[in-house]
Amino acid sequence: MKTKDLGTTAPNTWCPGCGNFAILNAIKPVLADLDEEGLVAIENVVLVSGIGCHGKIADYVKANSFYAIHGRTIPVATGIKLANPDLNVICFAGDGDAYAEGLDHLIFAAKRNIDITTIIHDNRVYGLTTGQYTPTSPSGFLGRSTPAGLEVPPINPLEIVFASGGSFVARGYSHGIELLKDIFREAILHRGFSFVDVLQVCATFFNLYDYYNERVYTLEEHDPRDRDRAEEKMREWDYNSDGPIPLGIFYREDASTFGDNFMKYNSKITDLEGRIRGALEGFL
Ligand code: SF4
Repeated sequence: MKTKDLGTTAPNTWCPGCGNFAILNAIKPVLADLDEEGLVAIENVVLVSGIGCHGKIADYVKANSFYAIHGRTIPVATGIKLANPDLNVICFAGDGDAYAEGLDHLIFAAKRNIDITTIIHDNRVYGLTTGQYTPTSPSGFLGRSTPAGLEVPPINPLEIVFASGGSFVARGYSHGIELLKDIFREAILHRGFSFVDVLQVCATFFNLYDYYNERVYTLEEHDPRDRDRAEEKMREWDYNSDGPIPLGIFYREDASTFGDNFMKYNSKITDLEGRIRGALEGFL
């Protein structure tokens, strides 16, 4: 399979310069390569997208896909994965989608280590509704709902996912497609909950290209199995200060997944049912 085989005829309506293009142009070759290498067959891939500008990515990749409602990409993906563990499920969600209404789902997905990949198009603004603040907008953000400047500091989503038990935590940037491709590939191949926060620039309502270009750097000689170091790197930038802003895979560990634990639980329940039935039959 070639990248061009994953294109669709849907007209692209993203604004010129939107960071969503980088995510789209990174995920397609990764999926094509994984299929070509026999690692993930494209017919076993399911893309789940939410509500927001990012959601249209499901229209632009020729693969199985599902449009979820706002904040609910992760529970939909969880259901798909549990119903058919052979599927490789990739969620695309916005920061307003996953970090506001959907935050509880994100925390529980990390805690359970459900074997899905979650890619957040974190443009730090509600683009589709023309520029309101989101949980990752910086203090002082001037938007339609905060014309005098936002007084609330942002959350650091990497720290939240890490503290919740996430087994793969990474950050990418929509200006730097090779790094995005490397991260997406590793995230998809990771067995467990993979979380990638992509600093995806909204060229129309919050253009941070210059800001990021001056501050981002790629993690090098970083051991993602080192918990303390991973946490230290996640805290290096709090989405509010002036950086520097590390990019790459911060943390990765092998751990049992929700599917593994679900199977164990099911077998215990079956065993318990058998013992109760046996006891009742003896009694009757
Ligand atoms: Fe992209 Fe922003 Fe335009 Fe939405 S509003 S398509 S996020 S540039």
